[in-house]
Amino acid sequence: MLRILLILFLLLVIYWAGRSLWRDLKEGLRSQRASSKASSSSPPAVTDKLVKDPICGVYCARKEAYTAIWKGRVYYFCSEECRQKFLASKGSAASSAG
Ligand SMILES: [Zn+2]
Repeated sequence: MLRILLILFLLLVIYWAGRSLWRDLKEGLRSQRASSKASSSSPPAVTDKLVKDPICGVYCARKEAYTAIWKGRVYYFCSEECRQKFLASKGSAASSAG
């Protein structure tokens, strides 16, 4: 008797798994088609090459910007002066006990 229940249970599980898989496949195909449509409100490609200076708020080209790495993040600056200001402020705030 226990065996029959087990087999029935297994069949039920397989049935449900198959159904949800089929649904996922269908939804995936739908969302793939829809994604090409809903990409109208994305920012222009120019912002990819422009970076903001956190010190003076000026936008500058990333390849020409001065960079500093702080806690694993890269920061960009319009000039060496801004970079030094940034590093000085971070240095005094975090590791003064050196
Ligand atoms: Zn600056």
